[in-house]
Amino acid sequence: MGGNKPERERCACPYCDAELEGGPMCTVCKVAVSYCPKCHKPVPCEGKVCPYCGTKLKEESPRKGG
Ligand SMILES: [Zn+2]
Ligand SMILES: [Zn+2]
Repeated sequence: MGGNKPERERCACPYCDAELEGGPMCTVCKVAVSYCPKCHKPVPCEGKVCPYCGTKLKEESPRKGG
């Protein structure tokens, strides 16, 4: 018996799935992890959109002229 379901979402590295220790930095991959502003999940910085909810992470800055 034991129905322990993951209630709290644990912050894990999107690359190696290692648990992040309180900071937006994976100690295994040595990479900075961004958090989705919508679902608040750790997502790769290089990602433009959240792989979970599909929210745009980085807004393309509109360049004038050129
Ligand atoms: Zn990692
Ligand atoms: Zn998201």
